[in-house]
Amino acid sequence: MAPLIAARGVEKHFPVTRKFSEVLRGERPINRAVDGIDLTIGEGETVGLLGESGCGKTTTGRLLLKLTQPTGGTIQFAGEDLNQVKGPALKRFRQQAQLVFQNPFDALNPRFTIFRALREPLLNAGIPETEHADRMWTAMRRVRLPDVDAYYDRYPHQLSGGQLQRVVLARALVLEPRFLVADEPVSMLDVSVRAGILNVMRDVHATMGLTAVYISHDFALVRYVCARTVVMYLGKIVEDGPSAEVVERPQHPYTKALVQAVPVPDVNQSRAPLPIKGSLSQAQAPQGGCRFRDRCPYAFERCASEEPLMREIVPGHKAACHLL
Ligand code: SF4
Repeated sequence: MAPLIAARGVEKHFPVTRKFSEVLRGERPINRAVDGIDLTIGEGETVGLLGESGCGKTTTGRLLLKLTQPTGGTIQFAGEDLNQVKGPALKRFRQQAQLVFQNPFDALNPRFTIFRALREPLLNAGIPETEHADRMWTAMRRVRLPDVDAYYDRYPHQLSGGQLQRVVLARALVLEPRFLVADEPVSMLDVSVRAGILNVMRDVHATMGLTAVYISHDFALVRYVCARTVVMYLGKIVEDGPSAEVVERPQHPYTKALVQAVPVPDVNQSRAPLPIKGSLSQAQAPQGGCRFRDRCPYAFERCASEEPLMREIVPGHKAACHLL
């Protein structure tokens, strides 16, 4: 599979608001949201980016879409270095790479009809007007809102959450992109409509051959929609492999803990939770060594002094842990 995206050593560090004592000591704390990731995504591949809130997955998605500038490293899209892309090339990239927002209730302008919301990206991209109707109709059919006339003159507040998220997806598809990032695309929706949206997403990949990154903390969603799963912890990738393989044979202790936290749909069965300590909100990236060591039940001496590197466990499945 030819790579569409190749990220090398990508970093995004933010300065953190300093406490008074830190100002006095002349310290400048840094949030290493993304801290040197390598990620190659093939054309047509669907990748789930998984981890707890604060692990850096949303920042990674924004970096891949050039919505924020990296503080280090390079990202290539179809062979072009995104750090260097500007002017007409940037406009082309914006058409080819789209974002689906987490909250469909905020994603659409409440004063725009659905017709206007769908047409706006076409106008902004300079698509000839003769193509607009056809593209909008195709996008609405792709998200399974085939009764197009029933939606065009309605406003967002007149639609249900599920219908709104389909319109948000249709708006992303109307430009016929090559690459899509969906940030927690169903987390704001009622459980009863999630399955419908996920089925639409699977169909869209199958019919359009779209390359996509799904950002989620939900293993079940990622496994259902994505062929490949990448797990992040405190700004680093700690595991990467085929979704079924990662769920059934997780290798990294952090991934094992995430898998064991997934509810089992059988009251007679339960999984013993892996005893990881604390939560990510309390975790600080420790200097040197493995950044999971403060929470890892298997940590040993080497984990504090040497950072584990990603290594292939079986073909296509990699993880970063000294025990592997
Ligand atoms: Fe745990 Fe050490 Fe492996 Fe990190 S390298 S996950 S601390 S055993």
